[in-house]
Amino acid sequence: MSPHQRLQHIHYLIDRAAKDSGRQPDEVQLICVSKNQDEHRIKTLLDAGERIFGENRVQEAQKKWSALKKNYDVELHLIGQLQSNKVDEAVQLFDVIETIDRPKIAQAIAKAMGEHKRQLKLYIEVNIGAEPQKAGILPDELDDFVKLCRSDYGLAIEGLMCIPPVGHQAAPYFGFLAQLAQRNGLSKLSMGMSADFDIAIQMGATSVRIGTALFGQR
Ligand SMILES: *Cc1c(COP(=O)(O)O)cnc(C)c1O
Repeated sequence: MSPHQRLQHIHYLIDRAAKDSGRQPDEVQLICVSKNQDEHRIKTLLDAGERIFGENRVQEAQKKWSALKKNYDVELHLIGQLQSNKVDEAVQLFDVIETIDRPKIAQAIAKAMGEHKRQLKLYIEVNIGAEPQKAGILPDELDDFVKLCRSDYGLAIEGLMCIPPVGHQAAPYFGFLAQLAQRNGLSKLSMGMSADFDIAIQMGATSVRIGTALFGQR
């Protein structure tokens, strides 16, 4: 399949998963995960009309997107872990940060948004399977963390993001994330990747982050 055909196919699958679950297709955004992809491949998707992209490293994203963002009205999502010394650059380049995973980062983002007069959309990353090696706020600690972000740092958190444990059924984890979002009054759910986005959509995803299925193996 050509990149264009792959893109059309993904949109078809997203629409179908939405309709199958009684949802409107436009309730689900496709985030094209362009990490490790060069500008030529990114351009193919831009030319096809895609405007929402995800990158997991600040420096790589700066190199690729600083120029492109001047010419295209792109919404760029940070989906990888953010180091404190990169917060300033991240806040200037990205439009959405999906990976707030500790108080220090939340505080630094609040400060940088003030300094740069930028208002980003913000998500908290949840370590939904409570895996020792994984980033994200533990489910047990989420409610307090949401409160902290809102009251102490004045952050308007929009939603939650997760990556379920490898080798497990993803559906229960997606369902759990939806439940956590609902009880904290959060409307956005970034969940589902190439292998499981249809299940994520059934469980309420409002955006899916897709790389491999769009670009082929990295
Ligand atoms: C790489 C990545 C994706 C995309 O994964 P694919 O399996 O290639 O679709 C989604 N989310 C995050 C956080 C990633 O790092």
